[in-house]
Amino acid sequence: MQLVIQNLNKTYSNGVQALKDVTLTINQGMFGLLGPNGAGKSSLMRTIATLQEADSGSIQLGDINVLTQKEEVRKILGYLPQEFGVYPKIDAITLLDHLAVLKGISNKAERKGLVEALLQKTNLWQARNKNLGGYSGGMKQRFGIAQALIANPKLIIVDEPTAGLDPAERNRFLNLLSEIGENTIVILSTHIVEDVKELCTDMAIINKGQVLYKGSPLDAIAAVEGKVWTKTITKPELENYRNSFSIISERLIGGRPVISVLSDQQPDGGFDRVPADLEDVYFTHIFGSTKTEVAA
Ligand code: ADP
Repeated sequence: MQLVIQNLNKTYSNGVQALKDVTLTINQGMFGLLGPNGAGKSSLMRTIATLQEADSGSIQLGDINVLTQKEEVRKILGYLPQEFGVYPKIDAITLLDHLAVLKGISNKAERKGLVEALLQKTNLWQARNKNLGGYSGGMKQRFGIAQALIANPKLIIVDEPTAGLDPAERNRFLNLLSEIGENTIVILSTHIVEDVKELCTDMAIINKGQVLYKGSPLDAIAAVEGKVWTKTITKPELENYRNSFSIISERLIGGRPVISVLSDQQPDGGFDRVPADLEDVYFTHIFGSTKTEVAA
């Protein structure tokens, strides 16, 4: 099954154009939708999840016209929204069972088996009788995945799932996602480059409602390989460098600014070539020749 998005447009009533002619084909496996806050990721995710309307364009999921056959989409969709609220005074096993009833699984034995399997899969079995209000951020997100998996979905959408998780929880969550990705379309929307780098075989970079790159992370890195140069400078020098070079990123390492420049040849003045990574690709697309304002 493929998800084919063509020429999708959305302008909100306040005049913000959140999606500009978005065209993407998404195959089975993990797809990363990468972009800064406000890029339009949630608008796109909510439209695919049938939660809001587009102004024009089309979305096709296999045989299903997503924009008109909403009920059909919902039957095979697992959606973990950015803000996943839980009922704090209910334990995980009870809520998951209840959600399975709502999804139409009326056979009690079947439901019990499914709920147990999902709690095992998401590593929440030990905490199954604990009220969800006492869950950590990572546990809540994993519960969100458990509920998203109830209907054995063919399309799973997770919107900014790792924001706010500590590194251990984030790892556990990403491992769980990668296990699911095999026979399903999983769209991971995130502003965190590392999430995409670690998990996704295919990706798009989006900013200001527009798709700036689509392809594999490895191809994206290969395109800038050998062209990324860095130099450690002092803070007073920053302004000069900003005026003289096309800086793609500025970071502080050990309190000192380290600037990166994209160039076919070694730039004048002691720059070192470094291996390209996905972050360089991201910054190149998002900021182009303008600076990133990462450093103070
Ligand atoms: P992201 O998920 O990448 O952070 P969003 O899709 O949430 O981006 O937002 C894209 C743009 O649309 C932003 O400028 C945001 O302020 C605006 N926006 C999002 N939702 C609404 C809405 N319901 N009404 C008006 N503007 C919105």
